[in-house]
Amino acid sequence: MTASSPMKIAILSRNPRLYSTRRLVEAGTARGHDMHVIDTLRCYMNVTSDKPAIHYRGKLLEGFDAVIPRIGASVTFYGTAVLRQFEMMGVFPVNESVAISRSRDKLRALQLLSRKGVGLPVTGFAHSPDDIKDLIETVGGAPLVIKLLEGTQGIGVVLTETRKAAESVIEAFWGLKSNILLQEFVKESSGTDIRCLVVGGKVIAAMKRQAQKGEFRSNLHRGGSAELVRISPKERETAVRAARVIGLNVAGVDILRSDRGPLVLEVNSSPGLRGIEDATGKDVAGMIIAFAEKTARPHRTGTRGKG
Ligand code: ADP
Ligand code: MG
Repeated sequence: MTASSPMKIAILSRNPRLYSTRRLVEAGTARGHDMHVIDTLRCYMNVTSDKPAIHYRGKLLEGFDAVIPRIGASVTFYGTAVLRQFEMMGVFPVNESVAISRSRDKLRALQLLSRKGVGLPVTGFAHSPDDIKDLIETVGGAPLVIKLLEGTQGIGVVLTETRKAAESVIEAFWGLKSNILLQEFVKESSGTDIRCLVVGGKVIAAMKRQAQKGEFRSNLHRGGSAELVRISPKERETAVRAARVIGLNVAGVDILRSDRGPLVLEVNSSPGLRGIEDATGKDVAGMIIAFAEKTARPHRTGTRGKG
């Protein structure tokens, strides 16, 4: 396939009206491709068939060259199963199912990044209430950030100013059977972080997000604001490495600027496009489509990275 030949591209998304989905359809269509928004939860399949296939609203999905997964956090399990089926059919995934699963579990992602020496905030994890006090000590005492393992958009991220408050919040989350991690509060980043959009091993856009007054979480969904930012070579290298370690071709890498250099907070596999396109004026959707044009080959789904 050459870069210029038209492709049939699936966008796995629950809602064609979402900004990111609309922009991908628009960018793909503008570049001459046949774009289809497929509702992830309406895909069904015979997983034991010797000829892998996906049924969708009574028909078989056929002839796709690439699939762009936009799988929401609430449908990770089913969404990655559907994506795996596309992979088994030999359709090129812009992000692979295994890499998406890695990114959705904050603990697993941090362990992978740590193994490769990527800068991270000091982070701890435990199971037993008997170990709370020692765990708090291990990550350096209060103030502390406590995070739900599968939280997103800033929900489930709590700042506790004192050890006592940290203990209570940990007990409460555990009482609800939620898995959490504890993290050193990186004060000097003062409510800002850097979102780097990595596509095909390059940072193609970056923005600085600033939390609302009185808030430490800079997520745009939590009322944060965004502006264009110049990043340092070290930040660029950190973002690219983080995406590579998780195995994502398209990733939103969140970085805190700390006194000891860039620290990766998380690697998002379905980064929102509105904030970054607005803040940078760049055609990020078009660059994602261009990456698919350049890279897609049948059965090119080899799993990268480990764990
Ligand atoms: P989510 O997946 O919900 O976006 P994050 O881990 O990215 O969770 O945290 C949300 C926001 O909270 C970050 O963008 C950052 O602004 C702030 N934040 C998270 N962890 C820390 C930390 N350890 N120190 C300082 N600020 C943090
Ligand atoms: Mg985040």
